[in-house]
Amino acid sequence: MKNILIIHTGGTISMTEDKVTGTVKPENQNPLHNITSTLQSIANITVIELFHLPSPHITPKEMLLLKQEIDRRIVQDQIEGVVITHGTDTLEETAYFLDLTITKDVPVVLTGAMRSSNELGADGPYNLISAVKVASSDSAKGKGVLVVLNDEIHTAKNVTKTHTSNVATFQSPQYGPVGSVTKKSVTFHHAPIVRQTYHINEITKSVVMLKAYAGMDQSIFHAIQTLNVNGLVIEALGQGNLPPATIPGLKDLLKRNVPIVIVSRCFNGFVQDIYNYEGGGKQLKEIGVLFSNGLNGQKARIKLLIALEITNDPRMIQKMFLQ
Ligand code: ASP
Repeated sequence: MKNILIIHTGGTISMTEDKVTGTVKPENQNPLHNITSTLQSIANITVIELFHLPSPHITPKEMLLLKQEIDRRIVQDQIEGVVITHGTDTLEETAYFLDLTITKDVPVVLTGAMRSSNELGADGPYNLISAVKVASSDSAKGKGVLVVLNDEIHTAKNVTKTHTSNVATFQSPQYGPVGSVTKKSVTFHHAPIVRQTYHINEITKSVVMLKAYAGMDQSIFHAIQTLNVNGLVIEALGQGNLPPATIPGLKDLLKRNVPIVIVSRCFNGFVQDIYNYEGGGKQLKEIGVLFSNGLNGQKARIKLLIALEITNDPRMIQKMFLQ
């Protein structure tokens, strides 16, 4: 049996429903500890409880601590696979952070739940069992950080939370899952062809994100200058366009060496410098706006945070976003 490390970080999977009010919150004792003995029949399990946080409380600081703990344990305890339980709200951001920063080739799998531990149809224990099966599978090696819920295996890069409450919330728009989990097997039918990793030891920069809308103007771009931001991600319109009234604000930020990366607010497709009108992608590229490669906004933000620890050169940052 493989040596699998389970790291609990919190989230609904570790929460309990109040039977009177129907509200859900963390209790002192993590209910997931009750199923550790069941998991021992699949792998040699070590469990640590790193955090007990709802995932809206997770910040890049916790993501970095998680990465450092995983790096340390892989070496120190001969860990052959890692499973992380996490709240689903920001799970994709932590997953992508780890995908970009963990350089060791050990399966790392994140899972969570949409229903808390004592609700009818609780999906947490089942998802945790599936995640341990995937982390123990030889075929999970070399596929980057994976997200496993609802019998599906997704890559950290493509997966996103698509529904507020449905158990089938995690989807990979445009690509689909890379594999599936059944009672008896873990099967991969796709594999990512590239994986980028970066060595970082700290996160020191501030990157904010804005969503474009009809009628957006330059005022918000001037307002964020007072925040001393180091980078900006914009969920732009369609194929990568912005209202013309934003342009003076963008130029001002670029003059202050604040890299601006655009993604699309559409959840399928890529941004490109196609449209040749004021505010169109062609003009955005000409003034120095950087283009992402199909990542959603929250993941582009994670990538820019990491990129800025390595370089401030817009050409290098653009290269990192093209891969
Ligand atoms: N709000 C919860 C969290 O992200 C949702 C969940 O875990 O599913 O912590």
